Amino acid sequence: MSRSAHPAGPRHGDVLPEGHYLAPPADLNAIEGKVWAANVRRGAEGAVTVAGLDVREVAREFGTPAYVLDEADFRARCRAWREAFGPGADVFYAGKAFLSRAVVRWLREEGLNLDVCSPGELATALSAGMPPERIAMHGNNKSVPEIERGVAAGVGRIVLDSFEEIGRVAAAAARHGVRQRVLVRVTVGVEAHTHEFIATAHEDQKFGLALSDGTAAEAVRRVLAEGAHLELAGLHSHIGSQIFDMAGFEVSARRVVGLLSAIRDEHGVELPEIDLGGGLGIAYTPEDDPREPHEIAKALAEIVAKECEAAGLAVPRLAVEPGRAIAGPSAFTLYEVGTVKPLAGLRTYVSVDGGMSDNIRTALYDAEYSVALVSRASRAAPMLVRVVGRHCESGDIVVRDAYLPADLAPGDLVAVPATGAYCRSMASNYNHTPRPPVIAVAAGAAREIVRRESEEDLLRLDVG
Ligand SMILES: *Cc1c(COP(=O)(O)O)cnc(C)c1O
Repeated sequence: MSRSAHPAGPRHGDVLPEGHYLAPPADLNAIEGKVWAANVRRGAEGAVTVAGLDVREVAREFGTPAYVLDEADFRARCRAWREAFGPGADVFYAGKAFLSRAVVRWLREEGLNLDVCSPGELATALSAGMPPERIAMHGNNKSVPEIERGVAAGVGRIVLDSFEEIGRVAAAAARHGVRQRVLVRVTVGVEAHTHEFIATAHEDQKFGLALSDGTAAEAVRRVLAEGAHLELAGLHSHIGSQIFDMAGFEVSARRVVGLLSAIRDEHGVELPEIDLGGGLGIAYTPEDDPREPHEIAKALAEIVAKECEAAGLAVPRLAVEPGRAIAGPSAFTLYEVGTVKPLAGLRTYVSVDGGMSDNIRTALYDAEYSVALVSRASRAAPMLVRVVGRHCESGDIVVRDAYLPADLAPGDLVAVPATGAYCRSMASNYNHTPRPPVIAVAAGAAREIVRRESEEDLLRLDVG
């Protein structure tokens, strides 16, 4: 895989690979619709605005780097998913993509449920008033206290990921005198990456219980045997992330329904729910062509209905768990340019005031992003750039290959779109860097929903 064979650091001196999508854009000032949140525009003065607010205002008030989130865009995506799936299905937002108390309130108001996968995410959800029955708990190694807390709070579902967990959840439910609703996470042998998927007999990974060797069926037996404390609502499958190809979901749905039918034959019960997970891709660059929620809903509903009909099963209630597809496009990261360093015959390195501490995805997954000059428009010619951060790693790359205007200068603001998911939630304090704030903008007004970390925050943890 290129990301392990060519770590970003040593790959110096390369030029754009043959056939790379990137040609200089026709208009460097264009704000290409699909990679930006819905209410981002190039304003009359040349600077970019979000929900009517000039990004220079945002930078003046809150500083840079900052994640700038278009609240109406986030809410509209929630609604699009809700409406696409309708009242006969549940949409769980995957909190790990980005979670804050404001986000929990938006989800609550827009009728979405919430997936959490850590005590911190559970605490955030509960503290912002998400009704516990609308919360599902995930994770391959939930601790006993964490399970205890979820059961005590009355979470709607716990997704079981191991044999050990069956006993732990049953014991917690017994202690609290409740019957906990659970799903069994099934590994269906589908590995999906963006434009392709692989269907295999087994999966060499840490999540779930394998379908192919009977482990999942054995887990179902054990859960049913704990019927006094566990209510088996159904099966769960999550096949990957940043997926564009529906074929992986088709194989997954077929295999999950196959297990539902085997369960009916063995135990005489038809489980009422299946959860097909998240993973739907978004546009990080203009080359990406993601599916709309209504297309996804239609495709999934058809696959499940067809497979159930063939197996003679009633169609179960469907659940999906989008994270990236809701949060990702709704925010961009606003940076200030610090240095512009042309390397003769190669490219120009543009250093910004953040980097791998606020966006680890380029270094971690070789993720692709785009970038634009947002504090002004420019008529200058395009120059090939690599946008890098301020950290002590040559792999500290934000955008590997992009074009920016050749008159780019220190003090200009640039923005990297589609950073709403897996950026703030994966941010670190590398180099003792305080993590950036998340600024929500709606109807021309900005407010911090997660404030910037301060040096005081950092020092508070250092007890000497
Ligand atoms: C990460 C995750 C999701 C969300 O994935 P996205 O790619 O952000 O849509 C959904 N379900 C489970 C179980 C996950 O682990």
